[in-house]
Amino acid sequence: MKILLAEDDVITRRLLEVQLKNWGHEVVVCSDGAQAWEKLNADESPKLVVLDWMMPGMDGLTLSREIRKMETKPYTYIILLTARSSKEDIIEGLEAGADDYITKPFEPQELRVRIRAATRIVQLQEDLLKALEKFEFQASHDSLTGLWNRYSILSILHRELARGRREMTPVAIIMADVDHFKEINDTYGHLCGDEVLRQTATKFNLSVRPYDAVGRYGGEEFLLVLPSCNTHEALKVAHRLRSSFEDNKINSVEISPHVTLSFGVVTVNSNERKNIDDVINTADEALYKAKNLGRNRVEFGGEIH
Ligand code: GH3
Ligand code: MG
Ligand code: MG
Ligand code: MG
Repeated sequence: MKILLAEDDVITRRLLEVQLKNWGHEVVVCSDGAQAWEKLNADESPKLVVLDWMMPGMDGLTLSREIRKMETKPYTYIILLTARSSKEDIIEGLEAGADDYITKPFEPQELRVRIRAATRIVQLQEDLLKALEKFEFQASHDSLTGLWNRYSILSILHRELARGRREMTPVAIIMADVDHFKEINDTYGHLCGDEVLRQTATKFNLSVRPYDAVGRYGGEEFLLVLPSCNTHEALKVAHRLRSSFEDNKINSVEISPHVTLSFGVVTVNSNERKNIDDVINTADEALYKAKNLGRNRVEFGGEIH
């Protein structure tokens, strides 16, 4: 594990560094508090720190308080090194935010077990955070396509409409639906249908700007939210998306069915709050118009003021 060691005394510092390295840790060595503080604020900073209490500049106690204010994720585990061993000192050290302390001169065996306990906690925290991230992703994304799920894309739409209102910028919405998807499923099988949905998601993601959001609204229906996008631009995007299926390459599927999509576009350009259902319905109506007019086309549902 990466451990930050801050100790001003050369001999103690060297001793500690050698010990920690011998036990297989990567050691970031600092000779004063200010240097340690700088390292802790850098990217990928160590999450286990061993701080000497008495150091010039910033002492271990001040440093502990500052680390606690940072609210790092994962948690930074602090071991204070101190020559002080009275109960009051220990309480003061722990009050400042340290998790543990070692009194100098230290016993290598004691240091080893305390470091081991600390790495266990840091590792557990890291694992927990990873699991949490995974759950958050699963809860907000569609498992087949990796796109935002219905709940998330609607939340994004809600947020972007509010932002557009505040900043007086337009927000465009594109509703897209795969044409005759039932036939694709019936002819080529469900797995092929699933692959079509995945590839469609990939094409969409590749064709929009990084701050645009693409979600799976329903079975073979996609909802795109394009912030700061006017009608002219939104229609350009929709036409580009539609024509990106013309080459009909769905590489990883052996028998490629001919995939086309229909699109309904609407832009919201208003400083008044609009009902989200009305916005979606307007996009939906445009989409159904595209279906009725023969599919594989883009229809504009108008600008909502
Ligand atoms: P239209 O051009 O009018 O949109 O016709 P369509 O056949 O695409 O529309 P319809 O609503 O009749 O059929 C949609 C089909 O999508 C029915 C459903 O079984 C299928 N479907 C929904 N979700 C999935 C999925 O996750 N995977 C696969 N393979 N099929 C799905
Ligand atoms: Mg010192
Ligand atoms: Mg369809
Ligand atoms: Mg549909």
